[in-house]
Amino acid sequence: MIIQCKKLTKTYKGDEGAFKAVNNATFSVKQGDFVVILGHSGSGKTTLLSLVGGLTKPDQGEVLINKVSNWQQPDHCLSTMRNKTIGFIFQFASLIPTLNVLENMVLPLCFAKHHHDHTELAYDLLEQIGLADKGTAFPAQLSGGQQRRVAIARAFMNQPEIILADEPTGDLDEDTEGEILSLFKKYNENNTTFMVVTHNNDLGKSQNSPRTLHIRQGVVSSGDM
Ligand code: ADP
Ligand code: MG
Repeated sequence: MIIQCKKLTKTYKGDEGAFKAVNNATFSVKQGDFVVILGHSGSGKTTLLSLVGGLTKPDQGEVLINKVSNWQQPDHCLSTMRNKTIGFIFQFASLIPTLNVLENMVLPLCFAKHHHDHTELAYDLLEQIGLADKGTAFPAQLSGGQQRRVAIARAFMNQPEIILADEPTGDLDEDTEGEILSLFKKYNENNTTFMVVTHNNDLGKSQNSPRTLHIRQGVVSSGDM
């Protein structure tokens, strides 16, 4: 199992007292799985992803990535894990305005301390999302949807084992969404593991053998097991 979540709970304080944004979630994900997380707004999807990715610390339970517990390792090991093992696609991902597209793509590699020239990989990814001619453009010269696609492609730059994506195609038109979904499919066929939050039930259908996790008021259940 590449991801194991055991009795994972995250409590926040709301207007009406404490509530569990994620409540006692237990599930595992195998390498090469494509997991679709479905749930209404406010049900805990983003919280769940950030717990899995080690961005949020649970108040109970644990997450193991490749059998290592996120919070029972030294901080620098956790950040190395986040930088090298995981590619994050955030819901409101943005590019650094003063860097061009190529520089934005290569940026995460600086933190992951990759020292090779990854320009070729960056152009390969840009080509797959139909933006091969935009490498030297600045974000302000791209449409919102194009910026969004670059932010998605950027998550693949460190060649992560796991992609965690929060409503990645929510604001894209159908054609562009199709390009992103085939990018996901290609990487998934090469054994990259995906956990993708979506409102859109169709997203899973574009992939080979998706699994579904439902989340309702913080409670996670498997849709197909
Ligand atoms: P979703 O992504 O499914 O819309 P979230 O995980 O963002 O849901 O949020 C789940 C619940 O937790 C919501 O009620 C939200 O308001 C609350 N919440 C999320 N993050 C925080 C936070 N940092 N502090 C307090 N409450 C939060
Ligand atoms: Mg969310």
